[in-house]
Amino acid sequence: MFCPKCRDEFIKGITECPDCKAPLVNELSVEEGPTYEPIYVDLVTVMESGDPGLIMVAKSLLENAGIRYYAKGETAQHLFGGGTIGTGFNPLTGPTQIKVSKVDLEEALELLKDILE
Ligand SMILES: [Zn+2]
Repeated sequence: MFCPKCRDEFIKGITECPDCKAPLVNELSVEEGPTYEPIYVDLVTVMESGDPGLIMVAKSLLENAGIRYYAKGETAQHLFGGGTIGTGFNPLTGPTQIKVSKVDLEEALELLKDILE
């Protein structure tokens, strides 16, 4: 049994790589080469806020950690800036959502937990 990522060999009976948790395969394909990140990744919303200051803090935390993120609704909020009422949420666009790739989700939540309360 082989790990497709580490390319290590394991004895029969082991089904998961102890290092990277990847499911083991019977044979490594020669042409496989290094595993590249898929271009289209599943995005998960890690936070949602109508407070631009909080969004800015979240983004700099993610940037410093090298996590790629996608902020949804941000452009619209700039366009419609000043149209906010009471709650601070823009009634037209709603709060900004910060999304990260599923693979970065845990790390992102850990970074953002202090401001997510
Ligand atoms: Zn592995």
